[in-house]
Amino acid sequence: MTARIAGRTGDFEMVIGLEVHAQVVSNAKLFSGAGTAFGAEPNCQVSPVDAAMPGMLPVINEFCVEQAVRTGLGLKAEINSFSVFDRKNYFYPDLPAGYQISQYSQPIVGRGSILLDMDDGATREVGITRLHLEQDAGKSVHDRDPQVTHVDLNRNGIALMEIVSEPDIRSAQEAGAYLRKLRSILRYLGTCDGNMEQGSMRCDANVSVRRDGEPYGIRCEIKNLNSVRNVMRAIDYEAGRQVEAIEDGDEVAQETRLFDAAKGTTRTMRGKEEAHDYRYFPDPDLVPLVLDPDWIAAIEAALPELPDDKKNRFVEAYGLSSYDAGVLVSERACAEYFETAAQGRDPKVVANWLTVELFGALNKAALDIDQSPVSARALGGLVDLIADATISGRIAKEVFAEMFETGREASEIVAEKGLKQVTDTREIEAVVDTVLAEHGNKVAEFRAGKEKLFGFLVGQVMKATKGKANPKSVNEILRMRLSD
Ligand code: ADP
Ligand code: MG
Repeated sequence: MTARIAGRTGDFEMVIGLEVHAQVVSNAKLFSGAGTAFGAEPNCQVSPVDAAMPGMLPVINEFCVEQAVRTGLGLKAEINSFSVFDRKNYFYPDLPAGYQISQYSQPIVGRGSILLDMDDGATREVGITRLHLEQDAGKSVHDRDPQVTHVDLNRNGIALMEIVSEPDIRSAQEAGAYLRKLRSILRYLGTCDGNMEQGSMRCDANVSVRRDGEPYGIRCEIKNLNSVRNVMRAIDYEAGRQVEAIEDGDEVAQETRLFDAAKGTTRTMRGKEEAHDYRYFPDPDLVPLVLDPDWIAAIEAALPELPDDKKNRFVEAYGLSSYDAGVLVSERACAEYFETAAQGRDPKVVANWLTVELFGALNKAALDIDQSPVSARALGGLVDLIADATISGRIAKEVFAEMFETGREASEIVAEKGLKQVTDTREIEAVVDTVLAEHGNKVAEFRAGKEKLFGFLVGQVMKATKGKANPKSVNEILRMRLSD
């Protein structure tokens, strides 16, 4: 699904690599025992290590290391049993130490891959270059006081995983699919909550363009994009800008750019900094990180079933389409909901109710599946009523809306409102006869060859029975009467 950009002088192709900063789910920071809760009072979660007090020493948080290993395993990546923490030196008011502890030449996780599920059902593999652990920086607060800038160090020292992709992505759609899939895997693993609005997952997009068969072009890096949609918008804009520049005979400068979400454009932030600008060197306060293979194996053995495996199982065990299975497994809670509701029922029917009616209603009400007013068991109850012909599919939609509104059981609503399907053929025959008598000229037209009127007559019968007549019986009886 390569996105072609039609330029004045021919087609171009996008080349994209993404760097994602994923905040590690952990109660304590990477090198200190300070807390990590989001939205805490400024500077209340800062230990002397985070404030870079003289003489303080970092102590590695084993749980954060475990989370990085778990993530690496979930990305089918090599786990490096020997890795090194380096100092990345730069000055920033919210970085009191004057350096960030990161990993450079020897990261904890090496090559892996992510499978993208595209809308047309196709899959594509994107390589993961590496995953390394590093500290987050603090935050400069400019909007609290017009005169001064405040510094909040709560975030300083929180563990991040930087996950770098190969330049394998070829369109904004693929970039979106990559981020959604990565987020889904991280959530399954419980290693990052994937919340882009709260900044626990941030993305930098590297974009270049090239003509067919040419080597990779010069890339620009767009910083700190805070939603999947903005990543996609920024990529499309940036690729277009580069094509124009090249066609105008200009060079694309390798630089760091910012995305303006209001305008939908990118602009120069700074020239590209090189590794030597940061004067990386191994942090003398930390020994190399050496992992015990048994410890890694134990983490691997305890991994949950991940989205790709779950999706394959859903296709095989339940006979779902690859698309439906992909939708259902994107969140663990949805997959669990489905499996509960599908227990002993037609899985395709259940999947359909979930992906169409339930997801639609949840979306409209801005609710997560965990907050669904209709439980998996209750939805199963509704599907049972359709299966045993107590209600028609059409009535079921009404019942579902009521269930969603009130949280009540399907059987209760059906009984109370008298929605039970009319299957008694004599009753239906009587209605059919009345309808035919009322619409004598339509019947004549139908008999004269206007086949389309059959649908109209079915509609009239359904209307007369308030939708409760069994549609199959209505069809049969009408056909019979009209052929008399
Ligand atoms: P840096 O430290 O310069 O940001 P990294 O190796 O951390 O370098 O990340 C480089 C990112 O840029 C990777 O995601 C990689 O896939 C991507 N990338 C490299 N070359 C290109 C290119 N020509 N076009 C687009 N993306 C690229
Ligand atoms: Mg980088």
